[in-house]
Amino acid sequence: MILTPEQHWVCPNCDHAEVTGGADNRFHPCPGLAGLLAPMVLEGTRVSVRAVLREDYVGREDVRYDGDGRPVMAVVTERDDGMDRVVFAPAARVTRG
Ligand SMILES: [Zn+2]
Repeated sequence: MILTPEQHWVCPNCDHAEVTGGADNRFHPCPGLAGLLAPMVLEGTRVSVRAVLREDYVGREDVRYDGDGRPVMAVVTERDDGMDRVVFAPAARVTRG
């Protein structure tokens, strides 16, 4: 019999917590990041999760907005040993004339 240890996941930006039987990465719509889909981290680890706002002109591109209407380029997870980045790539809109 193989026992799978419980994993306790927390969010550094809100009170959301989950317990799972596997080590898969967990994501949730985070109220602390204005509703963006944000990764959860293992309880007890020192990790920061933050949104990277887009500062240049959006124009007619389709971009991701947070719940406050700000354009977001990415959600960055910084650990002691590295960094993950979920990028929301803008898409061009094509119209036929
Ligand atoms: Zn959260």
